[in-house]
Amino acid sequence: MTFAAKSAPASSADDSPQARRYNRIHRWLSVADFGIGFAFLMVLLLTGWTGWLRDLALRRGFQNYALALFIYLFSLLVIAKGLGFPLDYYGFRLEQKFQLSTQKFRSWFWDETKGFLVGLVLAGIVVELLYFMIRQWPQHWWILAWALFMGLFIVMAQLAPVVLFPIFYKFEPLEDEDLRRRLVLLSEHAGTRVRGVYRWKLSEKTKKANAALTGLGNTRRIILADTLLDNYAPDEIEAVLAHELGHHVHKHIFKSILMQAGVTLLGFWAANWVLHVAVDHHMFEELSDFANLPLLALTASVISLVLMPALNAYSRYNERQADRYAFESIATVEPFISSMNKLASQNLAERTPSKWIEALFYSHPSISKRVAAAETWRTQNTGSQA
Ligand SMILES: [Zn+2]
Repeated sequence: MTFAAKSAPASSADDSPQARRYNRIHRWLSVADFGIGFAFLMVLLLTGWTGWLRDLALRRGFQNYALALFIYLFSLLVIAKGLGFPLDYYGFRLEQKFQLSTQKFRSWFWDETKGFLVGLVLAGIVVELLYFMIRQWPQHWWILAWALFMGLFIVMAQLAPVVLFPIFYKFEPLEDEDLRRRLVLLSEHAGTRVRGVYRWKLSEKTKKANAALTGLGNTRRIILADTLLDNYAPDEIEAVLAHELGHHVHKHIFKSILMQAGVTLLGFWAANWVLHVAVDHHMFEELSDFANLPLLALTASVISLVLMPALNAYSRYNERQADRYAFESIATVEPFISSMNKLASQNLAERTPSKWIEALFYSHPSISKRVAAAETWRTQNTGSQA
């Protein structure tokens, strides 16, 4: 194969109208979903319905604070799910329309139900702890809550591959001897060891392919979708493995947790400030009035929205680093390039999204940039390789 010196495709011609359309609708769905959640929180606060819901929860909860808080949270989540459901359903239909889904309605609906219940349990734990701290230590709750949350976050990161993911997907240890041998060689080259590689049964839900490095400590593992394992050549899978190993070697999960710690600290500081302002302006009687929960959620949404471009830029930086690690670890970059092209077609991804879209929304560099980086690397390193 030959590549022109400047072969990075700069035109949009290489993305099918179908891929463009699918991604455009997908983005609008995300924006609408965020907008509905945001509007819901605003309405609760501006109309005073949050106070009415709190009173109702207190009556139903026999004036028990913790129980009433849970009832309040449950009502909020049920209403929010009801409001967002049409969009969720539209998202499910969208995948079918573009022939990406392999899931039937029943299975999808069951996933939604499980997702809601998992969300309820996690949110329940978080919110109960949060208001417990606000009540116990009204002065310093936000610092203490931050410390506790980081602890929870680390525990969740460790448990996720063994407790959370299996609720939705099946995993089994990778049996393929050839791939295992390749991974051992890659790991030895890296001077590290990943505990395991798992086959991730994604084909029950979608035709899309994916791979990831997950877990912490003894749950650290690489997961490879069966949609990838069954359709890609061993060299291509090795390139994907090398990329995931790059994340491991560069300690990206640990660094992301550090980053998360900074963001969460800022979030709690802002939440405390916002709650104090609200109490000073008599929106709420006291800090521990859980009718102010929508205000906390709103603060969190605004902060994550404002920081999203920066966090995505950081994520793309990590992805470039993992790609570079892959280039160095595999014999030639060709399998990397072909795996990228396969991935783009299979996932109906846009190879060349607009500059702004990529900067704001993309956690990975666009496929065209990743391929271009591989080509540049090859040009610079040709001759130095056997
Ligand atoms: Zn990656």
